[in-house]
Amino acid sequence: MPVTYLKGVGEHRAALLRRLGIVTAGDLLTHIPHRYEDASTVSPIATLSVGMDATVVGTVISKGVLPTRRGLRIFQVVLRDASGMIEASWPGQPFLDRVIEKHDVLLVAGTIRFFHGRQLQAREYVNLGADAAGLEHGRVLAVYPTTEGLSVKVLRSLLDAHLDSLLPLATESLPPSVLAAAGVPALPDALRMVHHPTSVAEAEVGRSRLAFEELLSVQILQRRANAIARVTRSSVRYENRRALTGALKAALPYELTGAQRSALREIVADMRGATKMHRLLQGDVGSGKTVVALFAALFAMDNGYQVALMVPTELLAEQHLRTTTALWAPLNLRPILVTGSQSTAERRATAAQMAEPTPMLVIGTHALVQEETRFARLGLAIVDEQHRFGVEQRQALGAKGEHPDVLLLSATPIPRSLALTAYGDLDVSVLDERPPGRRTIMTALRPESARSRVLAFIAAQVGAGRQAYVVYPVIDESERADLKSATTMYAALSGPGGAFADRRVALLHGRVPAEERDTIMRGFRDGEIDVLVATTVIEVGIDVPNATVMLIEHPERFGLSQLHQLRGRVGRGSEESYCILLGDFGPDSADRLRMFASTDDGFEIARADLRLRGMGDLFGAQQSGAPTFRVADPLRDEALNERARVIAEQVLAEDPDLSTPVHAGLRRTIGTRYVRALELFRVG
Ligand code: ADP
Ligand code: MG
Repeated sequence: MPVTYLKGVGEHRAALLRRLGIVTAGDLLTHIPHRYEDASTVSPIATLSVGMDATVVGTVISKGVLPTRRGLRIFQVVLRDASGMIEASWPGQPFLDRVIEKHDVLLVAGTIRFFHGRQLQAREYVNLGADAAGLEHGRVLAVYPTTEGLSVKVLRSLLDAHLDSLLPLATESLPPSVLAAAGVPALPDALRMVHHPTSVAEAEVGRSRLAFEELLSVQILQRRANAIARVTRSSVRYENRRALTGALKAALPYELTGAQRSALREIVADMRGATKMHRLLQGDVGSGKTVVALFAALFAMDNGYQVALMVPTELLAEQHLRTTTALWAPLNLRPILVTGSQSTAERRATAAQMAEPTPMLVIGTHALVQEETRFARLGLAIVDEQHRFGVEQRQALGAKGEHPDVLLLSATPIPRSLALTAYGDLDVSVLDERPPGRRTIMTALRPESARSRVLAFIAAQVGAGRQAYVVYPVIDESERADLKSATTMYAALSGPGGAFADRRVALLHGRVPAEERDTIMRGFRDGEIDVLVATTVIEVGIDVPNATVMLIEHPERFGLSQLHQLRGRVGRGSEESYCILLGDFGPDSADRLRMFASTDDGFEIARADLRLRGMGDLFGAQQSGAPTFRVADPLRDEALNERARVIAEQVLAEDPDLSTPVHAGLRRTIGTRYVRALELFRVG
């Protein structure tokens, strides 16, 4: 039923509603508030004091636009409630003068500052009109997302007028058993709770029902895609041969952690299974993903297959080559290297080796996915630091040979249920345990005023034979004139009178040509450079045990996970290591950075990062068919999402193509909302 059938909605309003995605009466029902106001959150004006963050409700008794000397125009009103009066201001928003009228009742949230007396610096506001009386009487007020020309007042009055008649039309799509298992109310109840709650807590219960349905739908789609991908791919077959893996186990200088063993068990079970593996191995920096991948590689080689390990940089390829060569020495096995900078003769020699269907490990950069790189018998494709590759590159590696098993390694851990939501047809293993004996890296925030002391400390470390990284957010001033840049600071630090004037200092950033970049990193690795001034190009997987200090300038410019990756470059040897975040920060940044300094748990950090910065990066860049949500937030609703995952598996176990009558509603909902359902469930 189009919204225009509703009383109070003409052509003009319908056009405005369409901008909010509301076309049918059903859409109006599911246009849910993004937050609520109730009397408990509103402060009487008389009680406000400078520095408070507050929400007030008051009547506009005067208003006007004030110019300032610097050309900024400020909209100001005086608000009055039963207890007193206060001035509220909106700098730079003179147009509000056309929207807000004298006698309007406003709800305004903001901070109280001192400016010729108390002043409320507005952050957001809602024009309540006649509803203010309701609020004073303790009613919970829904605040809806709006669009220009359509006020929250209008939306609220539409829902007030039509909710009762529309609710009976909202048919429940989920079976009672699923609602019970999820612990959420039925749809009509949930919608009433969301639009007309008696408390904010009740509104949340209602919201959880709507969020659950979205999460369940996506989990069902993803699990279904996973199952279909598994059965329709032909596979490489494995025997339980353990000659090489057994030999490595005997030769390994340490014991595998419990987490490494169970991840390996999951991987081996996948490889031995009748269908192709497509698994993500997540683990914090230093959790030991490489050795797990190497065991998987040997298991494939035990069965006569070739293995490819793709890494994002030549340097990392060389590093893996060196550590693997050392680790495999007792096995009389050597991996092969394939990179873009190899000579034609070298390339020809490795190509000849790879053309033989004998077991081997080939380590390389994206040169591995180039067309001329051919494998005679590729059984397993491993991608290290998988987030550094595009979807196409990862897929291209998986498309080499005869449907090899695929193992992706990632150091940015995200909650399992979220990974399943985001990565669709992947299975997930997690290394949630650190190898023993790891030192924690001392992390400290230091103010600008401590700069010379910090630099002296680093100089002392270098004097004692250690190496240091100094990291900047930008390459040079052309990017951001107000930030210190790697290029400028390189000159300042290494030039005459600089803190490292008598040391060997190098500059590294993304515009340094790849070849020169590798030469510099090799120099640093081999101890020929003391201090590396750099941008985040050093972020990925580089292992220089003698580097014990990292100084990060403008740390507030980085995401927490990125800082964690950066910090992971130190603390790799036996010496005490330090990470110093230098600068003066606002209170929000300082909180974030203090949180970062207080933990070295990458899972906790990734979670905080996702919470602060949202999942845009994760869902946006990851894959084109990524799910989007209207109500749910898979991160905030992590527990609910986990419940949805379990229930999705139960539903699909009972009824793999949702063909039983009890799942008809669910099938219909998924079919109308998600295009992908068409291919997965043959709905229509
Ligand atoms: P990441 O997961 O960041 O790729 P690596 O695989 O590079 O971590 O491992 C980091 C270091 O930990 C390596 O030097 C590796 O040899 C060591 N390591 C891995 N597993 C263990 C273990 N079970 N016990 C002790 N050291 C380990
Ligand atoms: Mg690694």
